[in-house]
Amino acid sequence: MSIEDSLRTRIARACRVLGAMELTRALRGHISARIPGTNRIFVRARGPAEQGVRFTTEDEIVEVDLDGKPVAGMPKGLRTPSEIYIHTEILRARPDVNAVLHLHPPTVVLFTVTGTPLLPIYGAYDPQGLGIALEEPPLFDSSVLINTPELGRQLTAVIGGKRACLMRGHGITTAAGSIEEAGVIALGLNELATLNYQARLLGTPQPISQADRDALQPAIKRLAENGAAPGEPGPSIAAEWRYYCRLTGESA
Ligand SMILES: [Zn+2]
Repeated sequence: MSIEDSLRTRIARACRVLGAMELTRALRGHISARIPGTNRIFVRARGPAEQGVRFTTEDEIVEVDLDGKPVAGMPKGLRTPSEIYIHTEILRARPDVNAVLHLHPPTVVLFTVTGTPLLPIYGAYDPQGLGIALEEPPLFDSSVLINTPELGRQLTAVIGGKRACLMRGHGITTAAGSIEEAGVIALGLNELATLNYQARLLGTPQPISQADRDALQPAIKRLAENGAAPGEPGPSIAAEWRYYCRLTGESA
């Protein structure tokens, strides 16, 4: 399989997995990946012919340049997402990033609309989620569509060098070394929000101690290891991703 075909397959699969995990609403959301060594990307298309995030097929993954313009023709009934500039501007600004994910997970959105902090309330339960909490994902403080290059640049400035940002009344964006890592970060962020939410229903959540945070650092670092080649997930991310693929009936 060519690298292009492989990327299309992996993006479509990631959309289906995260759709099945209910990390977004119906049709809204997209994942992209850089084609190595080029200024072109693949991204999930939108339009009247689309199946919805959870049912994304490979022929819904289209190739665009970093200005958001289609490289080849667009399949009938599909178009580039209006929020393509989330992807193009982050990928333009961040050579360390090979994949960008934008979804609308409802539990995380609740935190953006109430201004409730995502506290580091667990450690060994999920070091990935702890790492995200300690990174303190910044908030893009507007709920508009990111449908211009300028808005894409503003979002890129907010996310800075981090792996995730929250978007008020809207959703999340994650930026990672691989498609799978972008997905695992989104799942970790969603779990962090879910447990924070449930802890607040039960009582007053208490952040874990500084000593615990320090002790978990090796586990957090291990999860951030890169794969053998640019755009490939490291071993810990690959294993976690494989689990979510199997859980949702995908081969991995
Ligand atoms: Zn959106």
